[in-house]
Amino acid sequence: MNKNALKKKFGPASLSVFETVAKKSGAGYGVHTKSEISNVFSLRIDADEYYEDKFPLYYPLFGKYIDCVSIFFNAYSFKNAVPIILKCKDLGVDIQSHAYYHYVYNDYAGNRYNINKAKKFFEDLGINTIGFAAPMGKWNPNLMRALEDEGYKYSSDFSYDYLGLPSRPVLSGRACSILEIPIFPVAPELFIQEGYKDTKRVAQYYKDAIDEMMRCNLPVIIYAHTSKYTEIPSILEEVLDYALNVKKLIPKNMTDIYNMWTSIAENKNKAEKESVKDTIKQPSEMFRGVPVKEPLLRKAKDLAKEFIDFERITPPDELRCNFVVKMLKLLARKIIR
Ligand SMILES: [Zn+2]
Repeated sequence: MNKNALKKKFGPASLSVFETVAKKSGAGYGVHTKSEISNVFSLRIDADEYYEDKFPLYYPLFGKYIDCVSIFFNAYSFKNAVPIILKCKDLGVDIQSHAYYHYVYNDYAGNRYNINKAKKFFEDLGINTIGFAAPMGKWNPNLMRALEDEGYKYSSDFSYDYLGLPSRPVLSGRACSILEIPIFPVAPELFIQEGYKDTKRVAQYYKDAIDEMMRCNLPVIIYAHTSKYTEIPSILEEVLDYALNVKKLIPKNMTDIYNMWTSIAENKNKAEKESVKDTIKQPSEMFRGVPVKEPLLRKAKDLAKEFIDFERITPPDELRCNFVVKMLKLLARKIIR
């Protein structure tokens, strides 16, 4: 677990949702200046689950805004829906990995196995993935090491950073080869899950977030899921129209942003960096979130779950953790409801 991750409340008081993100957003460090990616717009889609009748609702959106969409497919959920992935590939969508099992393990071996299994799945479809988005935005150094060893180039994990510029995490005193690309970490499905019915208000929150990210000189990268909620495509349509046609942001997918950052921004010398006067500013609380105090009992339960790396999705014979953790995990699966 990233000890710097915290549950935070986002949105105005009458429209608030929760997400676990890094303790501090990248913009909060006040050390970065405006860069080439400060005026780009990108939509990261995490395809967690497959709903046969709902997924097609997204095709018009993907087709219309192809230049700025990256889909991170969860391989396990789409293993029986390969034509869907191939259709997105044919549309020209940037396709990347959202792991095989929808989980980030504490240990290196579990992550390596999970990342490799997804990578092979996509390779069999003729897709070479170089980008990763961590399930639940969870981050730890073992995830980074596994991604490095599987040849990945970038990852986007909001428990590591959000609302900031790309960076390379430090692992045991060295810079990781994986570039972390932070995003605005509030998915619109959260509002629907919380029971908010006014989709115009939800779309307005995103438009305000876009204005705020632009004011702060941040790249505008928002994220959403393909889900069972039929309201989402029209919310996204309204938000993307605002970002690209009203605010005239430049459409780029996540892989484009990786390429822009590594070929231009990261290679600037000191004088070039110092010549930029506009700094990255801290977004207001409605967008960067306010830490939430969790009840002690809840905290203790979460810590215990964290200790045994609790999850139900991995088949027992595919668990790669050590024997003790594996036994505890399998026992907990029987006890915890
Ligand atoms: Zn996910």
